[in-house]
Amino acid sequence: MVVPYKHEPFTDFTVEANKKAYLAGLETVESYLGRDYDLIIGGERISTDDKIVSVNPSNREEVVGRVSKANRELAEKAMQIADKTFQTWRKTKPEMRADILFRAAAIIRRRKHEFSALLTKEAGKPWNEADADTAEAIDFLEYYGRQMLKLKDGIPVESRPIEYNRFNYIPLGVGVIISPWNFPFAIMAGMTTAALVAGNTVLLKPASTTPVVAAKFMEVLEEAGLPAGVVNYIPGSGAEVGDYLVDHPRTRFISFTGSRDVGLRIFERASKLNDGQIWLKRVIAEMGGKDTIVVDKEADLELAAKSIVASAFGFSGQKCSACSRAVILEDVYDQVVDRVVELTKELRLADPTDPTTNMGPVNDQGAFDKIMSYVEIGNQEGKLLHGGKGDDSKGWFIEPTIFGDVAEDARLMKEEIFGPVVAICKAKDFDHAIDIANNTEYGLTGAVITNNRANIEKAREDFHVGNLYFNRGCTGAIVGYQPFGGFNMSGTDSKAGGPDYLVLHMQAKTTSEML
Ligand code: GLU
Repeated sequence: MVVPYKHEPFTDFTVEANKKAYLAGLETVESYLGRDYDLIIGGERISTDDKIVSVNPSNREEVVGRVSKANRELAEKAMQIADKTFQTWRKTKPEMRADILFRAAAIIRRRKHEFSALLTKEAGKPWNEADADTAEAIDFLEYYGRQMLKLKDGIPVESRPIEYNRFNYIPLGVGVIISPWNFPFAIMAGMTTAALVAGNTVLLKPASTTPVVAAKFMEVLEEAGLPAGVVNYIPGSGAEVGDYLVDHPRTRFISFTGSRDVGLRIFERASKLNDGQIWLKRVIAEMGGKDTIVVDKEADLELAAKSIVASAFGFSGQKCSACSRAVILEDVYDQVVDRVVELTKELRLADPTDPTTNMGPVNDQGAFDKIMSYVEIGNQEGKLLHGGKGDDSKGWFIEPTIFGDVAEDARLMKEEIFGPVVAICKAKDFDHAIDIANNTEYGLTGAVITNNRANIEKAREDFHVGNLYFNRGCTGAIVGYQPFGGFNMSGTDSKAGGPDYLVLHMQAKTTSEML
């Protein structure tokens, strides 16, 4: 029996020993900055001339690593190996697959602060955000390992006296994992291990701005005893490698986390039958959000302001769960907005290797330009209350930005920005606030700050999001505690870190034997 699942605690960096441990991790990472990483196909390391250069978003001159880039031929080779390996991997004992996840979790725990420091360098995460990403990676491994142990004997079904019926889950086949840059460790590791522990083989295409952490994770999987060919590491461009594998007739499923537009593209391409294909591909997609914190008039207003600031500006708003809209009842609007601005003034925007930094850079030039274009739009649609300036001279830094008095149907209230920009809108009453909150094509997270029980119940029924929180912020779901995933254009309604996530990577087989 394995011990029951509990989430990995976050590190308290006010404790001197923890601070030292993180700094030691940073030193380790600095010792290997700029290194080259090969593709890994069937356990074989393959170097290509064409490289993806991963840079530090706080300082683009600093190269975090140079990663070999797959092309179509290499993607095809990886597919053939994954397809072949599936024939043996699918027959391995679920217990053995789970043990590999538990061992990998233990290895990551030992190298925890090195991984977090790498996330600070490669993704621009401040210490606490990097620590949460690493903790979540550990959680996914511990949780999915246990989920597989629960599912391994199937689910009981009825049998008549003359027969013995069984209902078991079997794996699907080769899965293409296309993981995001904003949780480059946790979500990448979670998507990959959910697929493999269920008995599938994997083609892992990590995000192009954060491939090094995925290369390090491959080392962990190998050390934990994962056989060659089960996970194949093939960074590459979406247009070349991504499309090729999504279209491939031997691809059985695609697990994607990223933007709405790329998700839609994958969903559409995956629906087309290609020559030699004998199944309907399954798509598990987690896409964007336009997440709202609603503040009622009967509410702890300090809690409301703190929740908005933390959820809007944590990791520079680059979470699909981030609060990008605050809807505040008119009775308490001025009071909450003033406090949000005050608290935001206290945030320090700087290089996240410094422990006093609250907010680091945004992901890359593309993210910087897109967010700044929304700041422009915000200047026309609302009243700039704080921030609004960006500096891309060294890294990609954007001030925490607040727009007040934004109309409910403004673009700023509807489109995903994925940066440190929050739009604030006034509602005349609670019903109006919920209507505004639902007035988007997404449905990922939301929060309601209220002391009114009837309004909690109303929101529980009518606020249509996959993760709804009361009297707290709308980010920071914990694996196994708050299974995560949204409705409508936020994806395929899957719940990462939830009790039915592994089943999405499997198919049920009924067997019936006459006695
Ligand atoms: N699970 C994260 C949270 O609850 C967000 C994941 C994402 O941004 O993709 O904040």
